[in-house]
Amino acid sequence: MNSLSEKHLLTIVKKSGIGILILDKNLNIVLANSWIIKSSGFKEKSLIGASFLAVFPELKDTRTFKSVELCLEYSQYSILTHTLNPFPFPLYDNEKNREIGKRIYQYLHIIPISIEDETDQFCMIQISDVSQQVVREKLLREKMTLANQREIEAQKASQAKTDFLASMSHEIRTPLNAILGMTDTLNETDLTEEQQEYLTVLRNSGKALFNIINDILDLSRIESGKLEMEHIHFSIRDLMSETVSLFYMKAKAKGIDVQFQIDEEISESIAGDSTRLQQVLINLLSNAMKFTEKGNIFVNTLLCEDKKNLRISVEDTGIGIPSEKLNSIFESFTQVDSSTTRKYGGTGLGLTITKKLIQLMGGEISVVSHVGVGSKFSFEIPYEGFIKRNSGIHQHWLNLELPNPENFPSCNILLAEDSEENIFIIKTFFRKYPIDISIAYNGKEALAKFKSQKFDIILMDMQMPEMDGLEATREIRKIEVANQIRASDSVPIIAISANVQKEDISKSFLAGITSYLPKPVRKQEILKLMYFYLAL
Ligand code: ADP
Repeated sequence: MNSLSEKHLLTIVKKSGIGILILDKNLNIVLANSWIIKSSGFKEKSLIGASFLAVFPELKDTRTFKSVELCLEYSQYSILTHTLNPFPFPLYDNEKNREIGKRIYQYLHIIPISIEDETDQFCMIQISDVSQQVVREKLLREKMTLANQREIEAQKASQAKTDFLASMSHEIRTPLNAILGMTDTLNETDLTEEQQEYLTVLRNSGKALFNIINDILDLSRIESGKLEMEHIHFSIRDLMSETVSLFYMKAKAKGIDVQFQIDEEISESIAGDSTRLQQVLINLLSNAMKFTEKGNIFVNTLLCEDKKNLRISVEDTGIGIPSEKLNSIFESFTQVDSSTTRKYGGTGLGLTITKKLIQLMGGEISVVSHVGVGSKFSFEIPYEGFIKRNSGIHQHWLNLELPNPENFPSCNILLAEDSEENIFIIKTFFRKYPIDISIAYNGKEALAKFKSQKFDIILMDMQMPEMDGLEATREIRKIEVANQIRASDSVPIIAISANVQKEDISKSFLAGITSYLPKPVRKQEILKLMYFYLAL
């Protein structure tokens, strides 16, 4: 036998695993297969020949019935998915569900059937049970909703953590600023050797706390995406020599040799974020210094072969890092072993920040290390070299030699600051210097004083009540413009602010400040900067 007989075909249709219902042009049922009979619970006899609407009266005026009519009248093929009408027919997958009225989810194909040489149309309704799919989809959707909710909650929690860390660090910096400032001042008074020792501990602990807070603030800023990279031109040689020289004293005390070398091919001036690069170098050099007891530390800067990247490495002959720890040291709050904090201090944040900063610069960091031999941290960052103009003409104010207090230019300054504590600290800084200080407790007072007196320099706190430093600066510059005062004769305004974010700094410059000092203000820094303007 090589073809199926009508009987065969009829049996196949009747035994099919989906429901098949065939209607004639008068909407009478001509065929209902076993699946339909079983799921509907009707007897075959009561179905065959019966009118479709007599068997399924609830379908009158429904989409399903409309589709059947369109099928018979215009030979239109329709698919009715379970999403619009999940249960068109009263069909059940078992007796129990029939009793409780729990229908199966249905997916319908309504198919026009025309038979050769016959004018009459038939309509075949195919019904698939999609209950399992629907349940699975529902579960999946629920899971996805839950996962989305969790993600939103996690993001909110992480943002809250970041904001909390940022504001806490900010709040802690202000009183710490006072502590560090006062230790500087106290250090200049007559102290016994014992007192001097205590003060050194106080200063070092204060500085360590300050560094930790800065690390936390930096990390929270990086994680919240608030840290923007700068793209300025700077001398990599100056930066390297300034940074490495910060460690000379300590290295000398430990008997370690610190050296650096820069590939001659590297331009005098390169583009990038010098502050962040210095931060990376300081982190790596501090670690190298901390974990090295003898030998040397070597910082090498090379131009990669493609001349598109700089490769900077910091190599030491220190205790080294076990190979199984090499990956985890870049994670937050990770140290090689728990005794590290006790013995060497630190928070385990330095390398996390270092890695993230390098990634923000478009680079990557790696480490090679052998226990007892030493470690080599290397990173590559994009290189853009320029020929430096005006090199060496200007001296950076931080490199100025401060004269003795009695030789410091006598001057009249306006200090706009609302915190009594900060006023006190700055006054103690200037105690031995011929500096006259007028105080303004807010921007309005500063403006009034500026109108009535001439000042050599204005120190302007940026956060003040009533009128803040930004507005006061803008007003002062307006008055100068109105009085046709030349830019070179305008009063230098040094902004002092705890907000060290780039946006805040650029806003201050736009308002007309001349220079910017971050809090906590250090005595040497503020005096050098003032001297820079006074000695001009
Ligand atoms: P920490 O504040 O503890 O120094 P880091 O993130 O900078 O935090 O470093 C994480 C850990 O990696 C350190 O605690 C130390 O165990 C290890 N480590 C980092 N640099 C060196 C190095 N140059 N030599 C040996 N161990 C190092």
